[in-house]
Amino acid sequence: MTQFSKRDRRDFVRSTAAGLAVATLWKLPRTLGATSSSGKDLRLAPFRFDVTPPIGHGCCGGWITPIQVVDDPMEAVGFVLTGVGDPIVICAVDWTGLLNEAHVAWRKALASAAGTSIDRVSVHCVHQHNAPFACIEAQRLVEAHGLPPMLDVAFFGRCLAKASNAVLDALKSLQPVTHIAVGEAPVEKVAGNRRILGPDGSVISMRGSASKDAEHRELPEGLIDRQLKTVAFYHGEKKLASCHYYACHPMSYYGDGRATADFCGLARRRRQEDEPDCLHLYFNGCGGNIAAGKYNDGSKEMRPILMERVYQGIVASERNLKRERVDQVRWAIQDILPETDPKYDVDKILAQIADKNRSVVERNRPAYVVSWIRRCAKRIPITLSALHINGASLLHLPAEAFVEYQLKAQRMASERFVACAAYGDGGPWYLPTAEAFSQGGYEVSVSWCGPGIDAVLTRGIQSLMA
Ligand SMILES: [Zn+2]
Repeated sequence: MTQFSKRDRRDFVRSTAAGLAVATLWKLPRTLGATSSSGKDLRLAPFRFDVTPPIGHGCCGGWITPIQVVDDPMEAVGFVLTGVGDPIVICAVDWTGLLNEAHVAWRKALASAAGTSIDRVSVHCVHQHNAPFACIEAQRLVEAHGLPPMLDVAFFGRCLAKASNAVLDALKSLQPVTHIAVGEAPVEKVAGNRRILGPDGSVISMRGSASKDAEHRELPEGLIDRQLKTVAFYHGEKKLASCHYYACHPMSYYGDGRATADFCGLARRRRQEDEPDCLHLYFNGCGGNIAAGKYNDGSKEMRPILMERVYQGIVASERNLKRERVDQVRWAIQDILPETDPKYDVDKILAQIADKNRSVVERNRPAYVVSWIRRCAKRIPITLSALHINGASLLHLPAEAFVEYQLKAQRMASERFVACAAYGDGGPWYLPTAEAFSQGGYEVSVSWCGPGIDAVLTRGIQSLMA
């Protein structure tokens, strides 16, 4: 385990905070490590705010069509939990990703408003692609080369200010949490493993979010986690917040410049409309190698159909909720410091970004690698966390982790109910298993960490689930 020293944090924040509206609000972390309580003073305050990018905003790193029209809003949805040490904040954002200092800045904004440290704030993206893929260092790099922007930093600052205001407002209406409940149900005909292996065990085809290839439709789902899981918080019989977890890339179609929360976000919003007095949150699990291409041809008609299937999963999962009195709450964190794959050479990558003969994707995407390498050089870790309540564990993981990690976490704590949110700090991009590196395929080609990530992440999960 590598701890992020106070000095590193201070230096990091100084170097990155410039230009961000809420930078001055940040406090240094006050506590590190686990805190626990009997839960008798547990309180919860929900918040929601709009994060729909403005017209013209870059999508998914700036190499697909920028926002031209808004089909439906994108939101950040979260809650503050008090009564187990300093406040805890958990939040899900309808964006592609929050990477490196952008992720830290988002947590800082929430932490500062809630009066806590960033170690007690977990922020996850749902990972829609017609959305910001926010990395401040990568944006600096592409801007310097006149490349299409990936992040409007002023808009990002406005979102942080909204985050701060949303938390300050929420804190005025903290409500007691007396009970929790867990539930789960399978989602039918949405997820499929997107890595199609040939007879020699290597990846021969990628079954992405949408596919018209007949073979992609016929091949089995492969390794997925079909279960949609729910953890709900109650005051007596009143359901205050309901967190839903399901592992799958959330896109039905994209690249057309239309802002949308897409089928997973739309399913969540429909459930929210069913129950306006309960906050519904949706977290993408370890869906790095999971997408809808087995069942989705990418046609417009499929979005509401996929939405309906996820929505039915949410409803069925909630049907199984059985309240129990909260008698034990624990917050645990574990910092990990994954290493960059030594195959990446910063000078060569910078030359590639500068090469005007290359396409936008070949120049913008490598900016994310450089950002990751520079972050690693500063030894800024990724913070994993878990909120354990009675027999349930809400596990918070980074980036595009493979589904194997959430299945593994469940096996490590077989007697517990494990709900897993991934797509936290997106800095390292894909987090494949060690085995996947020898199989090849897209995901390992854009994983900034080498096969060593498996042991590092597995140990981190183990320490949280112990
Ligand atoms: Zn992805």
